[in-house]
Amino acid sequence: MPLARTADLVADAYRSGTGVLAFNVITLEYAEAIVAGAEKANRPVILQLSENAVKFHHGRLAPIAAATTAVATAAAIPASVHLDHIEAEKLLHAGAEAGISSAMFDAAKLDYAANVAATKVAAEWAHQRGMFLEAELGEVGGKDGAHAPGVRTDPAEAAAFVAATGVDALAVAVGSSHAMSERTASLDFDLIAQLRSAVPVPLVLHGSSGVADEELRKAVSAGITKINIGTLLNVQFTAAVRDYLASDDTVTDPRKYLAPARNAIADAVTAVLGAID
Ligand SMILES: [Zn+2]
Repeated sequence: MPLARTADLVADAYRSGTGVLAFNVITLEYAEAIVAGAEKANRPVILQLSENAVKFHHGRLAPIAAATTAVATAAAIPASVHLDHIEAEKLLHAGAEAGISSAMFDAAKLDYAANVAATKVAAEWAHQRGMFLEAELGEVGGKDGAHAPGVRTDPAEAAAFVAATGVDALAVAVGSSHAMSERTASLDFDLIAQLRSAVPVPLVLHGSSGVADEELRKAVSAGITKINIGTLLNVQFTAAVRDYLASDDTVTDPRKYLAPARNAIADAVTAVLGAID
């Protein structure tokens, strides 16, 4: 099926009050697994490439973007490709060149006024090229250990931020934190509901790997539209590789341990998609 556009997947979910899942791709196996898992659940999906993942690929977006886009285009369900946590403007520009339809521009480390100014420029640039732009307000903790998970996005400030920048979706801090390997975060559902009424664009939950299925379902009911999941897949992938290597210390063919690792990601994707239904 033709490559889906993130704007359409998010708009469909927003209109119908459901959630759309966005999973982080690190290598080709991740893209294949995420699509296989979404096909099994018969749900649309967003494949996202973070600035950190691009750094891993020697700072080159084009090869991993081409591979991810090809996997999304070959999917039997609607699948789009998205850039996640982009701080470098040149990477946003490279994304447009690679045919990626959306990006999360992350200026949340800046103070409010500078975040607004940088995000407004990025949103205008993106809109001129038909790209959908997500931004973040109230830094979602956990990245680089910079912030504790106590940060919260203020609804009035969020509404003002969206009006001032013109972004299409807003990542909010409501209790989740990046890079959690256990699913023990507790979300502030009242705040999600307040943000949903105050903010006129879809809300995005980052750091969702640390949030249990039932909490994710409640987050969607309370008003979250896009849910980002990265670490959960890394936990599954690495555990499967570790298990295989522990069981066979003579293996040399990487397909022997990458295949179960890819299956583990696909199963996790199917499970999360089923849980928020
Ligand atoms: Zn994030």
